Amino acid sequence: MKKFYITTAIAYVNAPPHIGFAYELILADVLARWHRLRDEYVFFLTGTDDNAEKNEEAAKRARKDVKDFVDENSEKFKELCKKLNISYNNFIRTTESKHKIAARKIFELAYENGDIYKGKYKGLYCQGCEAFYTEKELVNGKCPEHNTEPILLEEESYFFRLSKYKNKIIKLVESKDFIIPKEKKNEILSRLKDDELNDLSVSRINKEWGIITPIDNNHVIYVWFDALINYLSGIDYPDGQKFNEYWPADIHLIGKGINWFHSVIWPAMLMSARIKTPKTILVHGYLTVNGQKIGKSLGNVIDPNYFIENYGVDALRYYLIREIPFGQDGDVNEEIIKSRINNELANELGNLVSRVIALVGKNFKGRLNSSEIDKKLASKLDLDKINSYVDKFEFHNTISEIFKFIAECNKYVNEEKPWEKNGKELEKILYNLLESLRIISILISPFMPETSDKINRQLGIKKGLLKDCKFSMIKSYKISKGGILFKKIE
Ligand SMILES: [Zn+2]
Repeated sequence: MKKFYITTAIAYVNAPPHIGFAYELILADVLARWHRLRDEYVFFLTGTDDNAEKNEEAAKRARKDVKDFVDENSEKFKELCKKLNISYNNFIRTTESKHKIAARKIFELAYENGDIYKGKYKGLYCQGCEAFYTEKELVNGKCPEHNTEPILLEEESYFFRLSKYKNKIIKLVESKDFIIPKEKKNEILSRLKDDELNDLSVSRINKEWGIITPIDNNHVIYVWFDALINYLSGIDYPDGQKFNEYWPADIHLIGKGINWFHSVIWPAMLMSARIKTPKTILVHGYLTVNGQKIGKSLGNVIDPNYFIENYGVDALRYYLIREIPFGQDGDVNEEIIKSRINNELANELGNLVSRVIALVGKNFKGRLNSSEIDKKLASKLDLDKINSYVDKFEFHNTISEIFKFIAECNKYVNEEKPWEKNGKELEKILYNLLESLRIISILISPFMPETSDKINRQLGIKKGLLKDCKFSMIKSYKISKGGILFKKIE
């Protein structure tokens, strides 16, 4: 059986989750669910970065104990996962003891292999990023991520010999499909080729919060070095069957702002520890909301719960995936959400389901046996195309291809006019439509799991796998009426 290991980045818990992280969770969930439909052995990891310095500062500002504060906020991310129907297999927190063991282990391996040494660090430091910047990386003297001026920091630190791995990293980044999409690969590659690769400061002296290094009790492990290791500790590294089964990761899904950490620093850490590097770093774009960059000024509209409560979880999932081509930046626009709910979800999908279910109920008391396949309809389903879009991470095209088939089904109803037919002829039309609904429910399940379940309940069947997406699989249906799938929004 083929395995598939996918991760999201782990979120800082200095604040409750915003819509941008919800987007990342949904994208990863779609991939995890699609690979499960392929009957693969899937492991999906997400979680929170509890050890970040930012969390400590936010806790102090809130006058709370740091551990209590991160526990509280981490729980909010877990709750969001539940509301979004995120099918993770493990939710890792970097305050877990198994994570601490893994982080110290990797640090120790790098040290034993001669890749960690003591030095002094002086540099421009962005507290928001918890990272040092060179002058060249700054935009008008400010952090490109936060638009704030970095502070000058000088202190004793342990360093990781990142420079030693430069050529190996370039080779890795150049390899096919290591960084997707291509523009993100080129960005990293040009930075690697233009600049010299400096060694990385990987510890902080005299900090209360964080994981103490295995070689010096006065230092905690630099949060990025620590955080990246969640991808290993989340599958029980250093011991455990899971690590052997799932590593290397098939996909690390991340936002574009942390590509360097994942495509350069992380592989170098793994090389130093003699562990295989991940297969693909998959980089998504950033979101704006109603045309504005996500920031505190937007208030509750950046809260994913706002969208879930007002439009429903499946409509939000559908909108984000269909509206924004993967890899590009996108906007969460409420007017477009409404129009997509009304036109696509209610008029196309919802209407098809309720028409077909009503016709079978009215004419056959909800029971229908199999009939001949109608090629006219069955030939409109292009499964290979749908699958190939997923493999190219063109999820917006995947959905649009599925909805093309939904439109064909509606067209079939209009052309065949089942209300004018009876007997065998009518049976055939409706059986083909029920089979179409069953296949549609499988195909939409990674995107809209709740809606898929609702359709299956009406069809009286259990959801199948991709291999079941062919006609004439079900011998007899016993359907029951359900509520409206999507209510129109005024
Ligand atoms: Zn910053």
